[in-house]
This record gives sequence, C-alpha cells and structure tokens, in this order.
Amino acid sequence: MRASERQLTITVKGTAKDDGMKTVVIAGGGVGGVVAAKRLSERLKGKANLVLISDNEKYVFPPYFANVALGDMQPEEISLPLSKLEERGVKFMKARIKSFDPDNRKVVTDSGDVQYDYLLASLGSELDFDTYNLASGYHNFTLEGSLKMRDALSSFNGGKVVIFTPSPMYRCGIYPFEIANQLDVIFRRRGIRDKSSITLIHPFKNPIEPLGPEAVRITNEQFQKRGITYVGGKKPVKVDDARKVVVMEGEEFPYDFLVTVPLIKVPSPFIGTPLVKSTPMGDWTDADALTGRSTKYDDVFLPGEHSMPVLGLPTAGVPVHFTSLASSSVISGEILGEPVDPGQISAMVCAMDYGDLGLVINCDVKEENGALKWIGSCYSVLTSPLGKYVKDMFYRSFLLTSM
Ligand SMILES: Cc1cc2nc3c(=O)[nH]c(=O)nc-3n(C[C@H](O)[C@H](O)[C@H](O)COP(=O)(O)OP(=O)(O)OC[C@H]3O[C@@H](n4cnc5c(N)ncnc54)[C@H](O)[C@@H]3O)c2cc1C
Repeated sequence: MRASERQLTITVKGTAKDDGMKTVVIAGGGVGGVVAAKRLSERLKGKANLVLISDNEKYVFPPYFANVALGDMQPEEISLPLSKLEERGVKFMKARIKSFDPDNRKVVTDSGDVQYDYLLASLGSELDFDTYNLASGYHNFTLEGSLKMRDALSSFNGGKVVIFTPSPMYRCGIYPFEIANQLDVIFRRRGIRDKSSITLIHPFKNPIEPLGPEAVRITNEQFQKRGITYVGGKKPVKVDDARKVVVMEGEEFPYDFLVTVPLIKVPSPFIGTPLVKSTPMGDWTDADALTGRSTKYDDVFLPGEHSMPVLGLPTAGVPVHFTSLASSSVISGEILGEPVDPGQISAMVCAMDYGDLGLVINCDVKEENGALKWIGSCYSVLTSPLGKYVKDMFYRSFLLTSM
C-alpha cells in the first residue's frame, strides 16, 4: 500500500478493531441515522464501536421545512448538532460519502475509507429539479430552498399560485395537499386571498388517493370550501419559465408564484453497487421488508428513504423511523448474541396539517409475500383543528427526544 493510500484509510479514534469490539457504521445523520444511533447506543454503548458519518454537522428535520418557508419557524429550531450523539458514545465524523464497497466492508468518503462490521445506511433521496425545469420555481425541500421561499412569499402580494407536482415519486406524499391548504390560510391572514388563486397540479386523479376514500373526501371538501383548484391525472410537459406557465399535455397553467415538488432518485453513493435494484418505480436500494437488511449482504442494513419503494412503504419519515428501529434491533441482537423480534411497522399514522385543520389518518400495514402493504387499509382517526397540534406535538417531541 502506498503512503498516499494509507492516509486514506481512516481509523476513527476509538474504533480500532483490536479492541475486540465490532464497529457499526451509520451512514447519514437524518431521521433514519439518528433513530439508529440512539437505539444502538441504548443497547450497545461500551459493547461496540458506533460511528455516524454525515456531510452535515447538523441533524436537520425535513418535515419542518414548510414551517420555515411559511415563516413559522427559524432554521435553528429545526436542527440539532450531531456532535450531541457523542454523549451517547456515538462517534460523529463529518464527511461526504462517495460510495459503498460492501465486498470489502468499506464506506468510501472524501476524508478516507471507513471499515465496518455492520453498516446501516439512511441517506434519504436525491432531489431532481432538472426534469420538467422545476428549479425555476420555489420549493421547501432543502433548508436553503425554504429560506428563499420564505423571502419570496413575504413580498408576494397576490396573484396566481401554482403548486406543480409532476411525478408521484417525491418526498412525503402528503406535502402538496398540506401546502395548498396552508397557503390558503396564510393568504387569508394577510388579506390577499381574494387577489390570489391557488391551483394544485398532481398526478393522482383524486387528491391524496393512496390514503383512502375518507382522506379524499375530506381533502376535496377543504379544496372546495377554500376555493383551491385541483388538477389531477394530467400528463406534465415542463415549466416554461420564460412565459411563466406550467405546460401540461393539451393545457397550460399561468403562474405568478410557482411552488415545485422535485422528483427523487436513489442517492449517488449507491449507484453502481449491488445494493441497488431496478424496479418499475426506478432504481432503489433493495432490502428485506421486516428488518431493512440488504438482500445481498448480511452485514448491511438499508432503512433509509431509498429503500421504501422496494419495501412497499411510502417515501416518508414515519416508515423510515420504524425500519431503522427494526434494523438496529437486529444488529444489536446479533452483536449481543440475543436475537430479538425486529418489530417492523404494523400501523402508519399520517398526521396532516391543513393550515387551520388537522387530519390524522391511520393505515394498517400487513406483510404479504415479503413486501409490506398499506394501500386500501387507511381510515380517518381525527379531523379537527386539534389535529394540527397533534402533528406539531408529535414532531416537536420526536425532535427533542431524538438524541
Ligand atoms: C418538505 C418535507 C416534508 C416532509 N414531511 C413529512 C411528514 O410530515 N411526515 C413524514 O413521515 N415524513 C415527512 N417528510 C419525509 C422525511 O423527512 C424523510 O422521509 C426522512 O427524513 C427520510 O429519512 P432518511 O434518514 O432516509 O433521510 P434524511 O432524513 O434526509 O437524512 C439523510 C442524511 O444523510 C446525509 N447524507 C446524504 N447524502 C450524503 C452523503 N453522500 N454523504 C454524507 N452524508 C449524506 C444528509 O445530510 C442527512 O443527514 C418530509 C420531507 C420533506 C422534504
């Protein structure tokens, strides 16, 4: 091995193999990574080396991006420093992961390679703003985007607002329906609703279809009551930003303020590795539905959003959370020699904030032929202004207790 190569092989302090302990590397400091770090430290502190690698020093909570964009929350309220995990015995390493080498049990980063005995990866999804020219609109799918949208909204004094969701593959299925209702409430408060129209363009024929007929009915009622136009099931062409129109097949929608919902892709470090599987929904990481374990490598667990399409679950934080707990239980059980029931998700709660109304929809999750099934099993638990606070309390407590 040449000297330059040697420098690239990192021994994270306290993770040397000769201490006899296994090393568990957690890739990603988001929802799945932080949930795993906490659970693994509860079971394995002092019994295994735990290392979390992320390219951001902070754990940033994406469900609160809309609150930042709408001016309700400040960026510092929606994030926590990942270094806080060190109190739990989890070593934090700030680095950009370039790729995974599962044959050699290595994570390749811009600060060198990191060896593991177990890998748990939860890198979210990569956003695609190029297809359909979505970058020409505002969005709240990153913190930077949320701040730009906040500034643009604060100087918006009325006009045609279009929310453009060209594909069903995006982060958090409920988001477009929430933002349409939230904008209605904010424009009313600011006295500009009568000067504004709100149009939501979405691939589903009926709004929020996968959450079942009750959710569709309530959402249609809200749209009707608030004067929100829903355009469903049409074929998207592109955003023509020079003419300020969203072009759909056979129809155009002019806008003064455009909100876009980007498509998602498998994160680039997985591309070209055997961890990825081609599906009708695109290329995604492949994992066992009950444990999040890679179908190819016993020592790799993939509970991140990038596995959800293959698992049959929505690309959202709630299923990532449960899958990450299941993966962490299996890893800690194997290291301790105490096998456990991974306890994968059996019911999924979707809490929705419609501005001045909240919905809580429950979807039962069943295993069928190795995949999880939830479509067709959803029902409304609560439709009330209280539901909005249920969602907020759920997220605040999730964030506050995450480390
Ligand atoms: C606007 C919005 C609203 C949402 N609302 C909800 C909601 O109401 N309910 C719900 O359940 N879900 C919601 N979600 C979805 C939820 O946030 C995600 O599904 C969840 O965060 C996915 O968890 P993850 O760990 O896979 O990815 P993330 O939480 O995105 O974490 C990925 C982590 O990996 C790091 N990372 C990525 N690539 C690299 C790399 N190459 N090298 C090093 N580090 C890297 C990132 O910095 C980040 O720390 C929402 C998402 C958005 C964007």
